[in-house]
Amino acid sequence: MDINLDILVIGAHPDDAEIGCGGTIAHYKKRGKKVGILDLSNGEPTPFGTVEKRLTEAKAASEVLHLDIRITLDMTNRYIENTVENRKKVSEVIRKYKPNVLITHPSDDWHPDHIACHQIVNAAKFQSKLTKTESKYSEHYPKYVFYFDHSHLKDKNRKLDFLVDISDSIEDKIAALKAYKSQFVDNKKHLRIFDYIKERAGFLGYQIGVKYAEGFINPEYLMLDFENLKF
Ligand SMILES: [Zn+2]
Repeated sequence: MDINLDILVIGAHPDDAEIGCGGTIAHYKKRGKKVGILDLSNGEPTPFGTVEKRLTEAKAASEVLHLDIRITLDMTNRYIENTVENRKKVSEVIRKYKPNVLITHPSDDWHPDHIACHQIVNAAKFQSKLTKTESKYSEHYPKYVFYFDHSHLKDKNRKLDFLVDISDSIEDKIAALKAYKSQFVDNKKHLRIFDYIKERAGFLGYQIGVKYAEGFINPEYLMLDFENLKF
């Protein structure tokens, strides 16, 4: 019997999901939610990585976050494209695990793989609700898709729509990122990322009166019930 996920985070490369919303993943795992990560590619080649290293590191990061599932698809790193074939590959995972919430890259980014991933996820969300397809799984339409607050664009002043309190899980996020030794420890160029992640989360947390937060973009209106507001 396959599990039904509450949240599925989809990134182009291993570590994208953790950078974008590792705190939110850890936060909702602590609250008993079912959370998975889908990587479109194995992320190789990179300057200090190998296919084996990246898979081992992704497994270690998954254990830090207590993920329910992690799947790596076979799309080609650096050349990911929004094709019908790739849309169907992601849609099959959505149909199989039936998440209520999808989280992926924002549309604005320098990295073509990230932009393609954004497009593929939106197309796959739509594909997943179609009946009379060749899929072996029943149709499923995730209720929400959100885009995390991370890209290769610097100082973009991205407009965020809501923030998630990750004060209880900022250290899990940092620990998950440190599991990607070939990317953030061996590659000295990226050592500053741990400081940046904390500074950004601290800045966002301050906006809502908590210690640390992660931000998200929401493409559709969200219903707000005043009875659920914290006063
Ligand atoms: Zn990436």
